[in-house]
Amino acid sequence: MKYGVLGMGIMGTPMAENLLKEGNEVVVWNRTREKCERPASLGAQVAARPADVIRECDICFTMVSDPQASHDVCFSEGGVLESICPGKSYIDVSTITPEMAQQIAAAIAERGGRFLEAPVSGSKKPAEDGNLVFLCGGDRSLFEEALPALEIMGKKSFYLGEAGRGAQMKLVINMIMGTMMAAFAEGLSLGDKAGLDQQDIIEVLAQGAIANPMFSLKGPLMADGKFQVAFPLKHMQKDMRLAQLLADEFAQGVSAAAVANNYYIKAKGKGYGDEDFSAVYKAVIDD
Ligand code: NAP
Repeated sequence: MKYGVLGMGIMGTPMAENLLKEGNEVVVWNRTREKCERPASLGAQVAARPADVIRECDICFTMVSDPQASHDVCFSEGGVLESICPGKSYIDVSTITPEMAQQIAAAIAERGGRFLEAPVSGSKKPAEDGNLVFLCGGDRSLFEEALPALEIMGKKSFYLGEAGRGAQMKLVINMIMGTMMAAFAEGLSLGDKAGLDQQDIIEVLAQGAIANPMFSLKGPLMADGKFQVAFPLKHMQKDMRLAQLLADEFAQGVSAAAVANNYYIKAKGKGYGDEDFSAVYKAVIDD
């Protein structure tokens, strides 16, 4: 198998590197070419256009920002569709809408290729450690064929059904995560204003039923005012927005998530979009 990876951002870069470390041949592409330098130094071949990566590889993964970016990589001139054909497989692991996953799936199928969506749960560190969780929908035979690569990059892969199911699952999970983070930020801020030690709050949380790795990992950094990016706040706000569109489609009220989303919108407006999503704390303390 020769693998392609399109999108050398926070997530795509370590994913490509893990495939390389296991001795696979890997071809990479990024809109901003300089970001291919690191994987190239580890032995990756660099391509000029997504279409060239498809031509070179058996299975190509894409990890880009949002639905528009996924659309551009697939449908633009020099994009995936230009060279996808029978025998070629395409897996989009970006967090996008179910509709975009289905649109891409249909276009790939029309040209005889196979498509799988596989958005990931897990952030920068799990991507580096090969501990991602893949939430897959689409062609089942491709899911099975891609498992060796998914097992290099991740610790668990779920096959959830037709294209769109993975996106739905991912949006539900991130809506919960984003809402939890906003509630956590409110608690830390209120505790601080009341004169409680934030480290004590974090320790008390860690002992109870709502203990979780996110609070334990991010809490001490938030209390120290450190928001070094792992999951960019602008992407979390995008996921909260997309989750609300999903909720609208199914007439499901998501009031808590809507309130949390307002904090992310505010934080983005204040210029924190490229910081970690835990920087929502800075919008909360000003509220
Ligand atoms: P990132 O570091 O911001 O990287 C975004 C990538 O998308 C870059 O390679 C960027 O290229 C590319 N891109 C953006 N617009 C494009 C366009 N129109 N055409 C082609 N390429 C485009 O983001 P990330 O953190 O790796 O996240 C990538 C995806 O994974 C997002 O959907 C995010 O929601 C999801 N995700 C992230 C995390 C996380 O913790 N970071 C966890 C789970 C899921 P340039 O370099 O040229 O800008």
